[in-house]
Amino acid sequence: MKGLEAFLVAHRHRLVWLHAAMAVVFVAIILVPVFLPDPPGDSTPLTHWTSFANFALWGLWFPLVFLSVIFTGRSWCGLLCPMGAAAEWANAKGPKWAIPAWLRWEGTPVASFLVVTILGQTVGVRDHAEAALEVFGGTLLAAILLGFLYGRKKRAWCRHACPIGLLLGVFSRLGAVQFAPKNPVPGGDAWTEKGVCPTMIDLPRKQESRHCIQCLRCVNPQARGALEIRLRRPGTEIERIAHHHPNIAEVWFLFLGTGVALGGFLWLVLPIYQEWRQALAEWAIEAELYWLVSPGPAWLMSVHPERREVFLWLDFLMISGFMLGVMAAMTAVLATLTAAIARLSGRPFAQVGYLFAPVAMVSLVVGLGGTLFQPLGPWAGTAKGMLFLAGIVWSLWLGWRVMAPCPPLRRLVALIPAAAGVVAVAWGWAPALFGG
Ligand code: SF4
Ligand code: SF4
Repeated sequence: MKGLEAFLVAHRHRLVWLHAAMAVVFVAIILVPVFLPDPPGDSTPLTHWTSFANFALWGLWFPLVFLSVIFTGRSWCGLLCPMGAAAEWANAKGPKWAIPAWLRWEGTPVASFLVVTILGQTVGVRDHAEAALEVFGGTLLAAILLGFLYGRKKRAWCRHACPIGLLLGVFSRLGAVQFAPKNPVPGGDAWTEKGVCPTMIDLPRKQESRHCIQCLRCVNPQARGALEIRLRRPGTEIERIAHHHPNIAEVWFLFLGTGVALGGFLWLVLPIYQEWRQALAEWAIEAELYWLVSPGPAWLMSVHPERREVFLWLDFLMISGFMLGVMAAMTAVLATLTAAIARLSGRPFAQVGYLFAPVAMVSLVVGLGGTLFQPLGPWAGTAKGMLFLAGIVWSLWLGWRVMAPCPPLRRLVALIPAAAGVVAVAWGWAPALFGG
């Protein structure tokens, strides 16, 4: 580990070139397809740039970034992400205002995630190059703007507003890599604008992984007060979450994020959604609410007559409402079961809720990153099923470990609602698993 650490520190100054290269690739992927003719029906990632760009975004970037946190933590953020790097670059040029309270609010990244996830569905971010440009380009511009305005040598965007930062943060707690102080100071994690950390971590007090974007800035093999890179068994941080700054807002976000992602998947595959849509359309016409059956603005919903897809206001309202409804239902189920686990085990809600992290992560990878599995052909379903099964087993194992201080029998009983919650998530994603 020491050798790797020394190598990374020695070449840290070269990261800027990696970020610049990634920025070029990122812009080419989101911008070029808008100017190209649509790919023919039989195009592949090897024959048309638009197909390649789509595969790169949804078949590689999305699932692999989430899976990578298990092995390397948030290395995507620190080493590769062009958006975070752009925010930091802009920060060097900006007025460096103090980070305002509204941005520091725990709900800001949650709102950012929800808005981007729902907008992504209504504009058809997976199917239309224009929508991908709007969502990813808009996010990049927001990162640059917030980076420009707030913080001094910081990444306020990455800590407080990135739509996937919080998600990567929760899952990085499962990761095998951590950056830990060599001489930790007691007191627990704290937010500070002082120091070198771009995500405002009070370095000597660092206990949790979630805000660490692995920028390497705090690592110095020679300095006793620096941080060092350590390997650990994946899941250790959650198993011992009581010592790693558990956060109730993060647990709620885990439930909300799982639910809204599930809603974004289910509206596309459930026949009942189409029945409800039909019923609403008939009602709107009967009630002479013709605006509901008119197309809305293209920045808010998919309006692509040339591709035979034109969303109406009722589509926009139904997709958003359906996603929010599934989110509320899933959150209610998981919160109720977590309260039961907490009651039965005597452990805090804010600790036992983390047991759902693995199953939530594989849900996202399997449900929304299905393109990754396509090259496996007939084995795709098996691979997804195996991954999901691993997530279920891991969640239950974490549950067992998180409740460690209580007697085995009590833990076993408390695992019943934990298993029910895991099954509820799996049941929701069943069409992704068994739909090929
Ligand atoms: S937090 Fe978001 S913008 Fe920042 S580096 Fe990570 S993925 Fe990129
Ligand atoms: S803790 Fe260290 S590696 Fe992690 S974000 Fe802060 S300075 Fe970078």
